Amino acid sequence: MPELPEVETIRRQLQDHAAGRAIRSATVIDPLLVDPEDPADFERRLAGRHVREFRRTGKYLIAELDQGEGLALHLRMTGQLLWTAAEPDQVAPYARAVLRMDDGSVITFTDPRRFGRAWFLPAGRAERARAWGGRTGVDAMSPAFTGRSLEQALQGRTAAVKGLILDQRIVAGVGNIYADEALFRARVHPRTPGGALSGAEVRQLHRAIRDRLRMGIAVGGASFDRYRDAHGGRGGMQDLFLVHRRRGEPCPRCRTTIEKGVVAQRGTYWCPRCQPEREGDPC
Ligand SMILES: [Zn+2]
Repeated sequence: MPELPEVETIRRQLQDHAAGRAIRSATVIDPLLVDPEDPADFERRLAGRHVREFRRTGKYLIAELDQGEGLALHLRMTGQLLWTAAEPDQVAPYARAVLRMDDGSVITFTDPRRFGRAWFLPAGRAERARAWGGRTGVDAMSPAFTGRSLEQALQGRTAAVKGLILDQRIVAGVGNIYADEALFRARVHPRTPGGALSGAEVRQLHRAIRDRLRMGIAVGGASFDRYRDAHGGRGGMQDLFLVHRRRGEPCPRCRTTIEKGVVAQRGTYWCPRCQPEREGDPC
């Protein structure tokens, strides 16, 4: 599932190729993508609009349009955005929507499992907050996400810290991969109750989240599954995983065998020596 670095990689590519261009036409192939909106309305509202820029907040990609409106996309499990300089010879498998740009280039949204979604965002701060409010918290790469803000969010929480940093209202953009990697870097067991971390540990975790996301962006994301960038290329982060998907392999720091279990309902990897489980931690 694409997380912040994967969406950011696609954002940068689309910003290079498609920002400043106009959408000549939009085609919604799968109405579920824009549900509960009417696909024909959606297509009409996008046709002829200029894309000012591509932004990202958490795992959402937003094409900011002229007149202040926007097109928001979430790739969820298997969504992909493919950019091609010209119309492809045939429609990509699992295509759910197509944007044709005024320079002949094409952006195709493909998604075999069909969990991805698209929304038309209204102009105006208040209108957008009403349509969008509460969906996502502070972006993990924004200056507003600090050690202090994370500490406040974790204070008094008895839930496992892994589940808390996966909560998009606490910090937006972190998913299963980067949560495991950051917790390893910070030497925190994923099951530790959020409120049990010391101030120093929270600051370490904050730094580790930033560090792993930055690394992910630098290598174009992780492609062990379906994830591909807007050119159909693979990222390199899967080759740099420290613990994620490495059960049974030696810890890169201490050579202890990496374990896997379920934390916050997600398959989770950790080193039992570098990330010791605390006495009395709930399971
Ligand atoms: Zn270790």
